[in-house]
Amino acid sequence: MLDRLIDASKIEAIEQIIDKGERFAILVHRNPDGDAVGSATALALFLRARGKSATVIVPNAFPVFLAWLPSADETIVYETARDEAVAAIGAADALFCLDFNALSRLGELGEVVASLAAPRVLIDHHLQPDEGFAVEVSYPAACSTAELVFRIIYRMNNEALTHDIAECIYTGMMTDTGSFAYASNSKDIYIIISCLIAAGIDKDLIYRRVFYNYSPNRMKLLGYMMYDKLRVYPAFNAALLTLTYKEMRRFCVAKGDTEGLVNMPLQIKGVRFVCFLREEVPGKINVSLRSVDDFPCNSVAAEYFSGGGHKNASGGEVYGTMEYAVERFRTALSKYKQQLTE
Ligand code: 5GP
Ligand code: MN
Repeated sequence: MLDRLIDASKIEAIEQIIDKGERFAILVHRNPDGDAVGSATALALFLRARGKSATVIVPNAFPVFLAWLPSADETIVYETARDEAVAAIGAADALFCLDFNALSRLGELGEVVASLAAPRVLIDHHLQPDEGFAVEVSYPAACSTAELVFRIIYRMNNEALTHDIAECIYTGMMTDTGSFAYASNSKDIYIIISCLIAAGIDKDLIYRRVFYNYSPNRMKLLGYMMYDKLRVYPAFNAALLTLTYKEMRRFCVAKGDTEGLVNMPLQIKGVRFVCFLREEVPGKINVSLRSVDDFPCNSVAAEYFSGGGHKNASGGEVYGTMEYAVERFRTALSKYKQQLTE
């Protein structure tokens, strides 16, 4: 019933790498999200069930609303445990690279990975992956990396899906599709969900664990952002949110507190493009972009914010002041006016 999305040769190549090796490291992008952590923990659990050693390494910490994921507490955070992370990567027979398309998305950790000879297996759904992977499972048509991990596990052994693996996979699929509100029209997604439910997950509970888990600060921040910080540009069908370092401190913003804010202005009638500028450290502005339909926010990310990503969800960064970042955004609006308003 499931379409055979991934080439059989790639499944075989991965199976050979798994069979040949003993230790594996699983790496995901900086600022790991639900798909990064969900797909990585799912793969780690699968490898361990096959009698292998598998370590998940994240460049920096993930949000607390993902801490409940099965085996997430065994993850090594490179930023706070560099030696341990480097040792685990160095000892690996192969490295699984999940939910990113270029080693630069690992931050500093990318240089460590690039210097190693161990084969790298890419499992990802972003466009235009870097070269240098021994096996490349890159399918932008997949809703999430977790969907691809499901497909790999299912094809290798359709009885390997445990309750815990299913919880991890569902979390990745749910978070990368805005709870199946976008990038989720493929029938296969719902066939996969039915397999996950058959494996015993409580999808309503997973939803609550992830989304009904915010701090009071986050709710105050949300009110402040929508009331005071939202700027709508009706002539461009666009909206902007900004959050300075000072404001981050004022609202005691913790990891995950800003998650999802960028999507909210898309609820405004007519808005097709949203930019969220967040000064995470003084002088460095993190950029999140979202769009609907055909507007390619990844082009804006690449052209104006040294970034990239998916057509409807992308990001990047700006070094400089908030004023400068806003100026970049306004310039982008002028340049893309026609595409935004057609
Ligand atoms: P978010 O806004 O959730 O941080 O990122 C949304 C998406 O944008 C990510 O899934 C990723 O595909 C892409 N993205 C975010 N930041 C960057 C970046 O600095 N470079 C590239 N190439 N893509 C990014
Ligand atoms: Mn993803």
